[in-house]
Amino acid sequence: MIKKLAVLTSGGDAPGMNAAIRSVVRTALYNNMEAVGIMNGYQGLLNGDFIPMSKGSVGGILLHGGTILRTARCMEFMKPEGIDRGVEILRKNGMDALVVIGGDGSFHGAKGIADKGFPVAGVPATIDNDMGGTDFTIGFDTACNTALECVARLRDTASSHDRLFIVEVMGRNAGFIALQTGIACGAEYIAIPEKPLDIDHIRTKLRYARERGKTHSIIITAEGACSAQKLCDELKGKEDYDPRVVVLGHLLRGGHPTCTDASMAARLGAGAVQGLINGESGFMAGMVNGSVEFSPLERAWKEKHEISDSDMKLLSVLSI
Ligand code: ATP
Repeated sequence: MIKKLAVLTSGGDAPGMNAAIRSVVRTALYNNMEAVGIMNGYQGLLNGDFIPMSKGSVGGILLHGGTILRTARCMEFMKPEGIDRGVEILRKNGMDALVVIGGDGSFHGAKGIADKGFPVAGVPATIDNDMGGTDFTIGFDTACNTALECVARLRDTASSHDRLFIVEVMGRNAGFIALQTGIACGAEYIAIPEKPLDIDHIRTKLRYARERGKTHSIIITAEGACSAQKLCDELKGKEDYDPRVVVLGHLLRGGHPTCTDASMAARLGAGAVQGLINGESGFMAGMVNGSVEFSPLERAWKEKHEISDSDMKLLSVLSI
């Protein structure tokens, strides 16, 4: 039986993490458990940085971005000795189970803990949306909506000044934010790490657009595909446009979560605790076809999302 449940956030922060913490804590309290927060991810675990969580300590945080438990990267936890020490500290402090809220790196650490026989559940939260076992990760929808809002503002000034805006969004290895935002805002070109960059194609497109009277354009690039500055350098002077660079970067991590992210975080947080109560361990609670589903933690990285064939086709169709 679980009497004391710990929760931590790890990896990059994502809007909706607070909603997930709140849900984990309140579900634990509802089920007569003690809830404990671990500050600063796995680093805080190794430092024994535990704080008691009450109903009130998660009040008023639901729609705040970031994470009240803070987050950190911890190299020591990537070694087997680090995980051993983490499990020992959890047991010594009387914890019976742990919920890890984070991305696939964080889930690797969680799997290490579960493999030592300590009950663990994962809640997928990263703006990148690059994890298997869930249709969407917490934070992705908010990041895309923030990017869309920024691009809408840029379009206003782009059309007034005949400008080409090259907008860089986060996504070192995955182009989901660029793709989703680019499709939603009707970008003239979307550069993603999953598709080779074709500068000649971009030039041709911009020329055609100009010839048919279009006076402004937006290109969205994921940081892992090509930096906005490099693209600008390639295009500057060679086209009739006046290119400007905007790097949205960490702006996409901030702000209150969208309704989609906050409600998904609430459902997944509660689902994770319920799974632990049912005696499961080493699982993640994901949102699959609108329902909370459990799958092994390793599905997060073994069955990572890929850009679908239909979206690849859509990219070609929309970029005529
Ligand atoms: P994001 O997608 O936002 O980057 P993430 O959870 O993937 O989130 P990482 O920096 O990859 O972020 O991982 C967070 C932490 O998880 C690391 O700092 C480390 O403590 C732990 N971690 C990562 N990989 C492993 C691993 N292979 N084994 C054990 N722990 C790991």
